[in-house]
Amino acid sequence: MDLASHIRRVPDFPKPGILFYDISTLLAHSGAWRETIDRMAEAIRPMQPDLLAGIESRGFLAAAPLALALGKGFVMVRKRGKLPGRTVSHAYALEYGEDVVEVQDGMIERGQRVVLVDDLLATGGTAAASIELLRKVGAEVPAAAFIIELMGLGGRERLDVQEVRTETVLQ
Ligand code: 5GP
Repeated sequence: MDLASHIRRVPDFPKPGILFYDISTLLAHSGAWRETIDRMAEAIRPMQPDLLAGIESRGFLAAAPLALALGKGFVMVRKRGKLPGRTVSHAYALEYGEDVVEVQDGMIERGQRVVLVDDLLATGGTAAASIELLRKVGAEVPAAAFIIELMGLGGRERLDVQEVRTETVLQ
């Protein structure tokens, strides 16, 4: 199936000059979405994860069904202040300012293998920060999986430096 044809390209979103790859049309097509999840599951299975971690918010959409398909648990990586109870945070630099990602304390045991999941890999900044956070709580992060990889922005290279294997469905 030609999964790329199910991704809508929206010019000038969220800012003028940005071409946004919209997965809403992929999600709305049950066959294309199932095939996306099946392909990601087959790529992730050999990594033998104990848990899948999804990045807020579109990463959740893929990570939750992947966790079920692989018979593993799912944990949320969220932006600052969204998770109840004790959390562990990691701040990272943006072009202007900084952002913070968090996980709930106690969700991941030391040494557990966690595969990170998000919808799209661009510069790799979001994924790299999430990997640093997961490692801060003692996780091993052997791989990260994305539906879409934007080429030429250095994302894959950035994860290579962290010794994380990158799996993507559409480039
Ligand atoms: P990065 O941190 O790799 O530069 O950007 C990736 C993050 O931004 C991901 O969390 C992703 O959801 C979001 N993102 C950036 N551009 C796009 C886009 O064109 N389409 C979608 N669906 N997400 C994007």
